[in-house]
Amino acid sequence: MKKLLLPFLLISAMTMAQKKYVMVIHGGAGTITKANLTPEKEKEYRDKLIEALQKGYSELKNGKSSLDAVTTAIMVMEDSPLFNAGKGAVFTNEGKNELDASVMTGNNLKAGAVAGVTTIKNPILAAKAVMEKSEHVMMAGKGAEDFAKLQGLEIVDPNYFWTEKTWNSLQKMKAKESEKKTSATQQKQPDYFLIDQKFGTVGAVALDKNGVITAGTSTGGMTNKKYNRIGDSPIIGAGTYANEQVGLSGTGWGEFFIRTVASKTAADRMKFLKENVKNASQASIDEIGRLGGNGGIIALDKDGNIAMPFNTEGMYRGAVTDKGEIEVLIYK
Ligand code: ASP
Repeated sequence: MKKLLLPFLLISAMTMAQKKYVMVIHGGAGTITKANLTPEKEKEYRDKLIEALQKGYSELKNGKSSLDAVTTAIMVMEDSPLFNAGKGAVFTNEGKNELDASVMTGNNLKAGAVAGVTTIKNPILAAKAVMEKSEHVMMAGKGAEDFAKLQGLEIVDPNYFWTEKTWNSLQKMKAKESEKKTSATQQKQPDYFLIDQKFGTVGAVALDKNGVITAGTSTGGMTNKKYNRIGDSPIIGAGTYANEQVGLSGTGWGEFFIRTVASKTAADRMKFLKENVKNASQASIDEIGRLGGNGGIIALDKDGNIAMPFNTEGMYRGAVTDKGEIEVLIYK
């Protein structure tokens, strides 16, 4: 009798532990600690992440595509001033907001992206339009804006993206930069050492009832960026990637995600090395860390397994299961 009971207990414990996730999101990684987040702010972030997951999940539950779920969840975060995407996008050195976004569907390897746009309210919708309505994958600047307008997307005055928080971050960073210039000992450090230690990019990966995985990412880039700098978020394979097996979205110091082709590398590790989603995405973050970069990545595979590794203090992140159970996390 005892002999029979043990395997049974093991199996039921295993099936209980095996949750199937259908969506995972992030709202940026960085120096996010309990000490520098008030309980009120923490609640605001949690509530917004939950709202994004709820809205994304209800698309999936209603039989809509993972593309619909991803764009819906990302729009919730783009419309909030809490994150560095859409409304809350950070300022460039020139005091502008230049936004980047991309999306990719895994079953057909279709992708769309926009970079350096200044008037599109929801860049993720523009990325989706590039994917669905054009023969291109990436559009930039004014051309992307003209295209978005033709597609009937909402165009806003660039002032829409102004927030006190992001404006003050730019002023602080500029002050630090001029301090640095007067200090001879630090002159060799690149400007990005002045980053405000928080990357608020948003991203989502979803798996729909047809087994199709979609990944998307949207960002304002990095505060004080110069010369129309473009990060990893709109670059397929770096900040966003999806194939039949897995979807990924990154947040962090974009240059390192580009140099390591972070998302595609993790997907390839799964495909060619047969690694699981956790080890493959962790390997991408480890490589970024070895090179001196930081950030995090979210991943969801075709069986509903997720991974959310990061090498910063925290990452706004969350996931929802096929039963609609929501989990939201912030700190390490
Ligand atoms: N990865 C983004 C970039 O480098 C920044 C972020 O994640 O917040 O543009």
